[in-house]
Amino acid sequence: MTEEILRSTGLRASYITHLFGMNREVKVVDDVSLSIRKNEVFGIAGESGCGKTTLLKLIAGFCRPPLKVQSGSVEFMGDPGKPLSLLEATDEELYGIRWRQISYIMQGSMNVLNPVRRIYKSFIDFAYPHMGRMAEKDFRDSVTAHLDKLRLGKEVLDSYPHELSGGMRQRVTIGLATICSPSIIIADEPTTALDVVVQRETLGLMKRLQRELGHTIILVTHDLAVHANMADRIAIMYAGTIAEEGSTKDIFEAPAHPYTQHLIRSLPHIGDKERKGYLKGAPPNLADPPAGCRFHPRCPIAIARCAQEAPSLKACSGGTRAACFLAD
Ligand code: SF4
Repeated sequence: MTEEILRSTGLRASYITHLFGMNREVKVVDDVSLSIRKNEVFGIAGESGCGKTTLLKLIAGFCRPPLKVQSGSVEFMGDPGKPLSLLEATDEELYGIRWRQISYIMQGSMNVLNPVRRIYKSFIDFAYPHMGRMAEKDFRDSVTAHLDKLRLGKEVLDSYPHELSGGMRQRVTIGLATICSPSIIIADEPTTALDVVVQRETLGLMKRLQRELGHTIILVTHDLAVHANMADRIAIMYAGTIAEEGSTKDIFEAPAHPYTQHLIRSLPHIGDKERKGYLKGAPPNLADPPAGCRFHPRCPIAIARCAQEAPSLKACSGGTRAACFLAD
């Protein structure tokens, strides 16, 4: 079995706000346990608002109010034999691993490039402080060589972000996230703003770089087609919980959870003549989630037990693990 690089255990977290004398708790991550391995692409899928981005923040150690962890842990196994608890780490410890060990491609990250700084200055701002005692000339050479792998010429370094296309800006942010050769790259919807042709090219480059450099990618997107092309394993999230996880092949060929089955059935196919089915209702309000299985108000096969008890993940005959009493 491939070595584990990051593990979350029983993670529960909420956004807690106090507005006009009212306390509000949004239970956005509920009992999430994941084991992520070295050198894999681990996909996290689910509809908007299901807690994917919050889960990513937690597993990257970005936990700031109003987000609060109620229970559970996140451990990073960067140093063999000495796991680091990311939720208890000091700011200094987190600074020590950011960029060099764990880097982050944020949602809409094309827009994080400072519009009044040339691209090379962004590399100096973000990455250079993490490159040890490297001379600046050597750093510039290594950035040039790295951008070349992303099919960006050296003239890009002296450009401003507005002088580049969307696809080029996104490749610059991928370059920023990978220049320090981190063990884990967390990518939150990295290609959402791109058209399909540029998206395909960008994903191909990310995958090639991942194979060359051997890092782990944790990839969040609602687009199952992207997961099908990129991920080795996938976790499907629903309303803050993991509904199902497994290898990409097993998730697509033998989904066991009714929600995953619905997602797979909804994918368009060439030659489709019939309208796709839809799920009744809407995702639950996470400030007041339903008791039992969070999917039960929308589940087409729910039984009485589903409204009273929350199912845990269990192994299914198709190879996945699903949180459903009736899986299999
Ligand atoms: Fe549906 Fe019940 Fe399974 Fe939840 S536990 S997915 S409600 S059958």
